[in-house]
Amino acid sequence: MHVPVLTGAPRRVTSEPTTMPTSSELLATAAKRLYPNYKPAAIVFARGKGCELFDVEGRRWLDLCAGVAVCSVGHAHPRLVKTIAEQAARLMHVSNYFYNEENILLADELCTKSGMARAMFCNSGAEANEALFKLARRHHFAKGDSRTKIIAFHNAFHGRTMGALSMTGTPKYREGFGAVEGVVHVAYGDLDAVKAQMGSDVAAIIVEPVQGEGGVLPPPAGFLPGLRALCNEHGALLLMDEVQTGIGRLGRWFGFQDTGATPDAISLAKGLGGGFPVGAMLTTEALAGALPPGTHGSTFGGNPLASATARTVLSILDDESLVSGAKQKGEKLSAMLAALAKELPSVCEGERGEGLLRGLVLKQGFVVRDILPKLAEAGVLLTAAGERVLRFSPPLVVTEAELAEGVAAVRKVLSGLAK
Ligand SMILES: *Cc1c(COP(=O)(O)O)cnc(C)c1O
Repeated sequence: MHVPVLTGAPRRVTSEPTTMPTSSELLATAAKRLYPNYKPAAIVFARGKGCELFDVEGRRWLDLCAGVAVCSVGHAHPRLVKTIAEQAARLMHVSNYFYNEENILLADELCTKSGMARAMFCNSGAEANEALFKLARRHHFAKGDSRTKIIAFHNAFHGRTMGALSMTGTPKYREGFGAVEGVVHVAYGDLDAVKAQMGSDVAAIIVEPVQGEGGVLPPPAGFLPGLRALCNEHGALLLMDEVQTGIGRLGRWFGFQDTGATPDAISLAKGLGGGFPVGAMLTTEALAGALPPGTHGSTFGGNPLASATARTVLSILDDESLVSGAKQKGEKLSAMLAALAKELPSVCEGERGEGLLRGLVLKQGFVVRDILPKLAEAGVLLTAAGERVLRFSPPLVVTEAELAEGVAAVRKVLSGLAK
């Protein structure tokens, strides 16, 4: 097989390089040994650089999904690699029985950027949303007001742990698991439906500033401020799940910014660690007493390695102007996708999104999940958001040329489906 010149780091070398397994050998082992709760494409990646990924045989793909909006500074960013290596050599973990320098500084940086007052750390989006869930109930409990009702939205995605899953708005994901009681779901964007559920029993509303998994769906104008007003009126908390929208993805540091709605607390994960698992909950000062010592925690949360990594991600985003860049490049991508939708009206309905979280909406009857393998064959990695939205969530370091390359491949594949 032809092996192209590699720009990524070389494949890990063992003492006997000749015994390194091939893709097909690895896939055979995967089929036998990996728990089959996923259905991955038959590609085994071994290295990456920027927006490029290479499989174990050295074949190249353009990565415009970034591990679902995770690899914000691209693969193998030299500064991130250096931080992780140096921090690992210095100090990885001490537990939350002690402070660590990197974690304190990260909390300060996140609060400064968001205008929030307090940060609590964990390792994933679901965990960050579990923290929001517990924060909301415990806040009211601490005031002697045992409200438990949580309003969430249809098609919302908040994660797979039981609390987060209970707030997730896709029945299929919840089926067979039961649910934490007290969560209701209403239509995203429908303020009247929310109003009908409001009352003195509501602990919180949880909302994504743009629905990600649900189909890259921005809220209608006035929706988020409307939720804020309802929460104020009824003494409920407004929680925003910024796991996908936060850390520059929408062309601003946090999705809630510029919406006219300030949340009481937000969750973060995905882009925060640039690929390293780290999650966080940020809250206002008014909520600092809601989870006193002993009520919540995470063994790994906020460890020096994760914290140093996240600090470097924030610093790269700042130094390379990647947040404003996401806005500019997002507009370019939006224009390219709008043109493509216009060109292929029998396949595409249109495009939507904000910053570098964009969706090409396909016509009823098309199933994006079935088209992804063709796109991968054409050398481009994308993901589905909902049934018929092709999601672009590239690394924020993506270039316009790479976006154009990706859209050209999509054009080619979708043209083949057009009548
Ligand atoms: C991905 C995602 C989650 C879940 O994050 P995990 O790290 O997989 O637990 C939660 N909320 C939103 C909005 C997400 O996009």
